[in-house]
Amino acid sequence: MRAMQGERLQNFRKPNRYNKRKGKSGRNRHHFLLPRSRGGGMSLNNLLLIDIEKHNAWHTLFKNATAQEVLDLLERVVRAKKHQQVA
Ligand SMILES: [Zn+2]
Repeated sequence: MRAMQGERLQNFRKPNRYNKRKGKSGRNRHHFLLPRSRGGGMSLNNLLLIDIEKHNAWHTLFKNATAQEVLDLLERVVRAKKHQQVA
């Protein structure tokens, strides 16, 4: 099963602009849309191939939040600002 999952990940990996330009691989990371620690699976539907720096930035800013949770948070911030009194 592990080997099969590895093959699926390998097939999913495509060179990004950085890889093509520098001829390097391994600059991408798989991001789990629903984190594995929260029950997310290994299916391709749950994986996003993302540049490693962007991936690190995502987790620095949003920890293990899903994209929907981040959107909900940003909407709450916008709503709160609209209701904020100007001094
Ligand atoms: Zn991630």
